[in-house]
Amino acid sequence: MIRWTPGLRAGLIGLAVIAVIGLVAPVFFGEAAQRLTGAARQGASAGHWLGTDALGRDVLARTLVATRLTLLMTLAATAIAGTIGILLGALVWVTGPRVREAGLRLIDLMVSYPAVILALVVAAILGAGPVAAVLAIGVAWSPAFARLTANLAASVAGRDFVATARLLGVPPARLLTRHLLPNIAEPLLVLLSLAFAGTLTALSGLSFLGLGVQPPSYDWGALLNTGLETIYTNPAEAVGPAVAITVTGVLAGFVGDGLAAGANPRTGRRAVPASGPVAREAGDDDGEALLAVRGLTVSLPGGVRLVDGVSFDVHAGEIVGIVGESGSGKSLTAMAVARLLPDGVRSDAATLRLGDLDLTGRADQARLATEIGIVYQDPSSSFNPALRMERQIVEVLRRHLRVPRREARRRAVAALESVGVSRPELRLRQHPHELSGGMRQRAMIASAVLQEPRLLIADEPTTALDVTVQAEVLDLLRGINRDQGTAMVFISHDIGVVGSLCHRVLVMYAGRVVEDLTVDDLRAGRAAHPYTRALLAATPRLTGEGTGELATIPGRPPAPDARPAGCAFAPRCPLALPVCAESEPPTVRTGTGWAACHLLEEAS
Ligand code: SF4
Repeated sequence: MIRWTPGLRAGLIGLAVIAVIGLVAPVFFGEAAQRLTGAARQGASAGHWLGTDALGRDVLARTLVATRLTLLMTLAATAIAGTIGILLGALVWVTGPRVREAGLRLIDLMVSYPAVILALVVAAILGAGPVAAVLAIGVAWSPAFARLTANLAASVAGRDFVATARLLGVPPARLLTRHLLPNIAEPLLVLLSLAFAGTLTALSGLSFLGLGVQPPSYDWGALLNTGLETIYTNPAEAVGPAVAITVTGVLAGFVGDGLAAGANPRTGRRAVPASGPVAREAGDDDGEALLAVRGLTVSLPGGVRLVDGVSFDVHAGEIVGIVGESGSGKSLTAMAVARLLPDGVRSDAATLRLGDLDLTGRADQARLATEIGIVYQDPSSSFNPALRMERQIVEVLRRHLRVPRREARRRAVAALESVGVSRPELRLRQHPHELSGGMRQRAMIASAVLQEPRLLIADEPTTALDVTVQAEVLDLLRGINRDQGTAMVFISHDIGVVGSLCHRVLVMYAGRVVEDLTVDDLRAGRAAHPYTRALLAATPRLTGEGTGELATIPGRPPAPDARPAGCAFAPRCPLALPVCAESEPPTVRTGTGWAACHLLEEAS
């Protein structure tokens, strides 16, 4: 979704004007640019606004004519850098671990070699000329692209839906084109815009040094070179190409900045079509819960279900944890509620309601953005690296609630203070990379609760943090829930973390909820389902088994398209009965909830 900021408009309009000049200038000014007037090195005059060069040719006409070659070279170099870099950076994430490790090391090695030196080496090998210059700059810029693409792809490659696609055996090429590249396309577009400005400067630098375009051809860099010879006696000659390079670079920067604003993950929500299949464990929605989910399924285009018939409620002020191994569908469940599923992944539900907001239809985007706050797992990839913190934190206030800039800033400062971020005024002026990991996560929480959402979805918010910061972030979420009464859905693979924060816990396995219980039962060891008990046995904090060797759960969860008949946990379950492999386990009431297990039915 493109957001038409004034900067983006100005950048695109300006670049369009320059492109038109590049198109028509050789036609209208080509002759004037070559004409030898006999008046060499004249200063600016009415006849020659930027004076003349050593052969008496009009500098303004030559600057305008040089636009076409300069733009073509810049576009070509940017395309080469982008293509090589993006392919290299993304491909390492669809290969095996060894190839990936070698690829990442290679990229690191390439990045450590200064781009300018690399460009000079390539240019020296290929010889002077426009083609060599374009190749040199394209190759020299590609490692930076590869590194950034690899970083961006890494953040996507770890997501549940990619793990699921891998489990499904999706081939690497499809994994690349369907799952990785579409999800990093927006930041890459931003990078391409900014790289355009960089390659323009680098190409001009090569021509300026005499390694780029050779006479009789000329680009802005070559004109700058000749203009510099008379910089003290006739500065006007250097002004034309210098201004052209600067203005074009700044306009490309405007476009990159504007696209970056549109790429902000907090504003890029996509609607997911939804309609209703059968609820698996549904009581009727009595309207009392803040969030009511009945029969939620999330499916791949081929119909394979990643989440299958999930039903649950979240009441006002309640923290509900969703726990399970990677690929269990917990994050997809939460993202389906927030309507943030990746392209091509479809969700359906009999009921999907937040307060009076029906999420099964085309929900009001403004209400969705203001009533659901999201804290992502990795704040370093959730904040746009190209934008200052202020712009990203106040985005929802400014855009959806029309809060004036000054008031939005005041509230952002207060929110950062409330989550313990030091020097909030300064932080707002900084870019994400200038903040520590813990501080970024605090800022993300401040950003998520700034508009006072009714529901906060925290998707593994502590996984990327060290233990000390993890505890601080959990305290913070606890405080927000206590003081503001914000309901939360807290996703984690760590049942210990869930048990320390939440009021109620949903345990998911292979896309389904297998047990729903209160945290009191969980802590008291009254979990009923063998899978929940296995998770607890592998977690020392709740079971008190901190000194011994932790239990592990043998085997792996089944791929969504290869779920066994009966209970999906049966191949790993030490208590499995013959019936477990034949029929779906029934739902059995437990102390404070329910669990789906044949064993419990036998015992009841
Ligand atoms: Fe184990 Fe059977 Fe219960 Fe599944 S239904 S968890 S296999 S006992």
